[in-house]
Amino acid sequence: MIARSAAVRRRPLWQEILAAAVTDPERLLARLELDPALLPAARAAAARFPLRVPEPWLARIRPGDPRDPLLLQVLPLGAERAPQPPRFRPDPLGERAALAARGLVRKYRSRALLVATGACAIHCRYCFRRHFPYGEGACGARWEEALAWLARHPEVDEVILSGGDPLTLPDATLAVLADALEAVPHLRRLRVHTRLPVAIPARVDEGLAAWLGGLRRLQAVVVVHVNHPREIDEEVAAALARLRALGVTLLNQSVLLRGVNDDAGILAALSGRLFESGVLPYYLHLLDPVEGAAHFEVPEAEARALHRTLAAVLPGYLVPRLAREEPGAPAKTLLGE
Ligand SMILES: *Cc1c(COP(=O)(O)O)cnc(C)c1O
Ligand code: SF4
Repeated sequence: MIARSAAVRRRPLWQEILAAAVTDPERLLARLELDPALLPAARAAAARFPLRVPEPWLARIRPGDPRDPLLLQVLPLGAERAPQPPRFRPDPLGERAALAARGLVRKYRSRALLVATGACAIHCRYCFRRHFPYGEGACGARWEEALAWLARHPEVDEVILSGGDPLTLPDATLAVLADALEAVPHLRRLRVHTRLPVAIPARVDEGLAAWLGGLRRLQAVVVVHVNHPREIDEEVAAALARLRALGVTLLNQSVLLRGVNDDAGILAALSGRLFESGVLPYYLHLLDPVEGAAHFEVPEAEARALHRTLAAVLPGYLVPRLAREEPGAPAKTLLGE
């Protein structure tokens, strides 16, 4: 009967995993057996954009390897504070200018993006929202203004819940929001842009299934964000399978990142791993030139060459669209088509 207490120990809830994420650079380095000499630079970079890594992600990083592709996505580095080329700016996508209503970014005619929260489960160092002014009221704790705007715009038939990461919100909040969106008659699809099924696979629980699988009218699309095949371990694959079982269409977007996935073999393996997990590759984004992320950039010519190689080795449906975001453009700009 010795094993009994272990057998009945319940698995942690996603909220507990979220709350216990590592935010202290010193703890991260110690946990991953990395050189303590990295600490001053990590601290300085984290002072600008905080470190945040949840345990399931940490568990996939190889200890002692400063070049691990999962580590590089989350480790604050001195390079973030180095002088940046002038293209690299705090708001490279002009999102502030595209705010249609409080918390609603509308750039493309038929879909609008609702900044549901500023919070994320994991902080990706290259994120273009690292300087987004969430505190200035761009994200709606209350969504009336955005809902009223949507009701007045019948040309919009899809709402994208984004952020931050919308799945950091409680299911009760998301259910209320989903209900309100279902009541807007011209909306047809509800899309969720999230990294949570990957960062904390326990997030895909019964509460999430209840509101996402319970949509009456809107079709659900979940776009996850995976950059490297090692991000999809068995737990993540199981979470993705649970989403699929709800009838959700699953797509993936990646960002092309120096040192992480700037290799045709890795990108091809990523597409294969995604498909095994029921996810179709959607976009491979060129890095948005956000201040502090210049060291992640892969030049466009190299990106196009990688994309050509992918197209030569993969079936067409596993080749993500190589895309770039340009302020003012009517859609994402596709490269290498
Ligand atoms: C990327 C993006 C979308 C979605 O574009 P799709 O091509 O439909 O995936 C919508 N709104 C904004 C503001 C975006 O940046
Ligand atoms: S989860 Fe998405 S929004 Fe959040 S930091 Fe990462 S890339 Fe940015």
